[in-house]
Amino acid sequence: MKALSRFALFSLVAALSCTPSPEPLEPQQEELLPIIDMHLHAFPVEHYTPLPVETCPYPTDFLPAFDFQEKTRFELTACSEPLLSATSDSELIERTLEELERHNIVAAVTSGPLESVRRWKEAGQERIVAGISLTSPTQKTGLADLRELMSSGEIQVLGEVTTQYRGFKPTDPSVEEYFALAEELDVPVGIHMGLGSPGAAYMGDPAYRATLSNPLLLEELLIRHPKLRLYVMHAGWPMLDEMVHLLYSHPQVYVDIAVLNWHIPRKEFHSYLRRLVEAGFAKRIMFGSDQMVWPDSIALAIEATESVPFLTEQQKRDIFYNNAARFLRLEEGTESN
Ligand SMILES: [Zn+2]
Repeated sequence: MKALSRFALFSLVAALSCTPSPEPLEPQQEELLPIIDMHLHAFPVEHYTPLPVETCPYPTDFLPAFDFQEKTRFELTACSEPLLSATSDSELIERTLEELERHNIVAAVTSGPLESVRRWKEAGQERIVAGISLTSPTQKTGLADLRELMSSGEIQVLGEVTTQYRGFKPTDPSVEEYFALAEELDVPVGIHMGLGSPGAAYMGDPAYRATLSNPLLLEELLIRHPKLRLYVMHAGWPMLDEMVHLLYSHPQVYVDIAVLNWHIPRKEFHSYLRRLVEAGFAKRIMFGSDQMVWPDSIALAIEATESVPFLTEQQKRDIFYNNAARFLRLEEGTESN
């Protein structure tokens, strides 16, 4: 275990010389260690209707009680420092890419509809790992197109798969062929299991069901497709026992901690993460932000993960980078200690 934080200090070594230099020593400089974000979105802002201009992160506080008669979605709480959304696609892309660069996020799995992902890829180049959303069997990008896009390498991840928002299980026959294709072409799959917005089924996502958060619903799919490289987005929160059992029984499965790190109370994030780590899965937990239209959520997600008190520095490095690099099979030799 190496005692290095994300902020590795690199001393600029003054050249040794027989005669003392009159110049003062260069100050130490900080270099950020690399991060992989396994969960970023490339939806156009019009996808979010009405556009949630502000949202309140809940790092230490309570979740709101709703009064549907008086409040509307995303206006449910007040906070002193709300996150401000981008208001156009170009602003969203620009601000998000700035955040990726600022935090040395060297790769970000970015999902959305094909046209939108293409735009992000063009703007973000190698930092963008192109994912494609799988929302419903009637979606625009059909199987034949997807085969071509994945075979050519243009689409690198199948995900976010949002069957839960459509109200059906991941074993539904309508999506079976998509998973079979991902297995055949060895393309990683990220599936949403867990929380939506509070009150999702009443506002915007009528088919969303909490019941479908159960990670064990993936079991038959995994057995049917043993080579599927699958990660459970949001780590199935809050179905902890089920998540632990899925990870234990199916050692090929990984999870991400996106949105848990900035949108639920901090203590709950910690206790959920602690159990996953103590159950032995620190090598299969991956960082994610779930940035949607609030680019500043990326910094919050990083800070919340960086400041987890019980993680060792090596565990943080694994969560921020190494586990995802292994899962995505990035080039060897990129281990970050
Ligand atoms: Zn999700």
